[in-house]
Amino acid sequence: MIRFEKVTKKYDDGTTAVNSLDLTINKGEFFVFIGPSGCGKTTTLKMINRLIELTEGTIYINEKKISEYDINELRWNIGYVLQQIALFPHMTIEENISIVPELRKWKRDKIRKRVDELLDMVGLDPDTYRNRKPGELSGGQQQRVGVIRALAADPEIILMDEPFSALDPISREKLQKDILDLQKRIKKTIIFVTHDMQEALALGDRICLMRKGEIAQLDTPQAIIENP
Ligand code: ADP
Ligand code: ADP
Repeated sequence: MIRFEKVTKKYDDGTTAVNSLDLTINKGEFFVFIGPSGCGKTTTLKMINRLIELTEGTIYINEKKISEYDINELRWNIGYVLQQIALFPHMTIEENISIVPELRKWKRDKIRKRVDELLDMVGLDPDTYRNRKPGELSGGQQQRVGVIRALAADPEIILMDEPFSALDPISREKLQKDILDLQKRIKKTIIFVTHDMQEALALGDRICLMRKGEIAQLDTPQAIIENP
């Protein structure tokens, strides 16, 4: 459903971050990009929702070029979770989660129902947490909210850029389990960036190892364990 065709990204200073990438990511797949810092993972991810414009080649989503989508429609249909917890500190948890549904003009009742359902999904009691500010939650809880905020308007695709790497090992392990359960239930396409092989092996249906803007290896976790 997401197809890269000879995609290249050159930055203005001449750095080639991604070099002629050919790749297909299937619908409903948990797809992991892994590789050393600077190998092009974040650039690849951000080209999908056009936070970074590509230099050459084409990316298709459902066989339509991303350049042909309305950019707001494209971004609303692609959830995005960052490493740095990016909740708005002066807004309540409910308001934070409601941002995209409100942009999409969902009805008040529908948004409220959705917020409660999402909080439940990640084990945060809606009555307790709905009206709190992010600063009143732990790091792990804030990151859970970051994840469900990306899911709020039911996007087809969710991009996650090292979403758990700022967390302590225990929260991290819990969230990895949660995200796998979530994926099984919602059956969305998740594209996940990490530099942690354990995390990649635990989560990915397929793992794409990048090196210097190119694919070094692309395989299932099983195959990567057997043939590293
Ligand atoms: P990561 O390795 O986790 O992707 P980086 O520290 O490489 O993060 O990059 C952080 C931010 O700085 C990104 O938004 C990236 O686009 C930008 N950046 C990285 N390298 C450069 C560079 N050489 N010149 C300008 N911006 C850069
Ligand atoms: P990764 O996510 O794997 O750490 P990035 O996609 O952030 O890699 O970066 C890939 C390469 O592109 C690196 O060499 C980085 O320094 C460079 N780069 C990233 N962002 C910019 C930018 N805005 N301007 C110039 N170079 C950049």
